[in-house]
Amino acid sequence: MMKHYNYALGLTWTIILFVVPLPLIQTLAAGLPLAYSDEFQAIYFGAIAYAWMLAAIYLSTRPKWLDRLIGLPDMYLIHGVISIAAIFLAYLHQSQTQSVGWIKTTGDWAYWLLLGLLGYSLLFMAGWLTSRISVIKRIKAWFEPIFRHEVSVWIHRLNLVATVLVFIHVILINYVTAIKPFMIWFYLYSVLTLVTYVWAKYRDSMTYPRATLIKNTEIAENVHELRLKLTTNLELLPGDFVFISFPTIQGLKELHPFSLVNSPTNNNVIQLAIRGDGDFTKALANIPEGTPVRVVGGYGRYQQFLNERSEFTNIVIIAGGVGIVPLLSMMEANANRVISLFYTAHRAEDLLYPEKIMDWQRRGKFQAYQQVGRFVDSEVLRRLPKDFQTNSLFLIGGPSGMMRHWKRVFKKYGVPAGHLYAEEFNW
Ligand SMILES: Cc1cc2nc3c(=O)[nH]c(=O)nc-3n(C[C@H](O)[C@H](O)[C@H](O)COP(=O)(O)OP(=O)(O)OC[C@H]3O[C@@H](n4cnc5c(N)ncnc54)[C@H](O)[C@@H]3O)c2cc1C
Repeated sequence: MMKHYNYALGLTWTIILFVVPLPLIQTLAAGLPLAYSDEFQAIYFGAIAYAWMLAAIYLSTRPKWLDRLIGLPDMYLIHGVISIAAIFLAYLHQSQTQSVGWIKTTGDWAYWLLLGLLGYSLLFMAGWLTSRISVIKRIKAWFEPIFRHEVSVWIHRLNLVATVLVFIHVILINYVTAIKPFMIWFYLYSVLTLVTYVWAKYRDSMTYPRATLIKNTEIAENVHELRLKLTTNLELLPGDFVFISFPTIQGLKELHPFSLVNSPTNNNVIQLAIRGDGDFTKALANIPEGTPVRVVGGYGRYQQFLNERSEFTNIVIIAGGVGIVPLLSMMEANANRVISLFYTAHRAEDLLYPEKIMDWQRRGKFQAYQQVGRFVDSEVLRRLPKDFQTNSLFLIGGPSGMMRHWKRVFKKYGVPAGHLYAEEFNW
């Protein structure tokens, strides 16, 4: 069971990198005229780049079946990596082939558009990068008042225009369109991607279950708890996150991800605790009860991670600030396991849900250590269960730097990577 996730992740990478482009390469290899033999390799690069661009678009639709196997953060990582790789292959393709007229124009436009969007996306949409490199983080923060996330999402969608340009580029090349088996695969992939994308957009905007905001309370300075009454059943697991938006409020129509505070039960009320970090999250303070909410999800692998490792009784949870939210849901849902919680915040008043934590202390099998400011490594290590390297699972939630720190510490003290799980709040 434990290998399940690694196996699914490896298989996903293999299928996208090798299996998806294969029919295009095979049919091209069998059909390209020998007169172009100098350019065969570059043409294959172009075909692989197109296949990866389509795969990246497919992943951007957040296929739920894949999320439960490998998780959305890994899906976004694959999306980012294959997009960069596709642009690299597009560069090789462009620099090693000769073309003229509209074939050249469409190819060049697509290439430069993709390159520009790559730079933009790395700066504004790659949280995994900005959280690691402080210069990029500062540049992003500087520009963010202009290029807000909603604007970035729209700019990022220009990738679709680049893909259409590549599509036109290909159908203008006579000696390629003459290869019927290639064109069948080419149209099949293109149409499938288009249908999936359009369907996902339709699903997100029209058919997805709605909810109503039934309570909006400030539970700490700058943190609001939203209680949503779902009007349709959603497939939710403890620790999941959902995307929400407010279709009736201008400026709040773009979906944003937030984790569940409560363990989803059959009363169809979900709780979210949201810190006011930017335009969307700050505006939540003023949303009146009764407002309709679009909810998409759930996504996430926290509960799946525990279910796949049911033989472990001890769970160690390290949480910082608002990063505790999905772990609250996990603690509520997994009362049968022995849980040690280490929770820190910058200020005492930022420690969320003290009453829940106190309650759980009374149920036994639960020990909480909370403090203002960081824990010293040795303090945490001293309080871990005996033989924690072999009998404990570790869940971590908080700022990216904190998550990386504790992963490093636990690995250093012998915890296998497969016993640690964390979902970052930025991708
Ligand atoms: C899986 C997950 C679970 C989360 N759970 C919680 C939670 O329980 N409580 C909480 O307070 N916050 C949570 N967040 C963070 C929350 O989504 C962002 O703070 C929020 O979207 C910021 O939007 P904004 O417009 O207010 O701020 P902005 O100023 O636009 O953005 C602040 C930061 O959030 C990023 N961001 C903005 N919009 C999105 C988006 N739609 N998708 C991904 N990143 C975005 C931006 O790139 C930027 O780094 C979670 C994030 C993720 C990825």
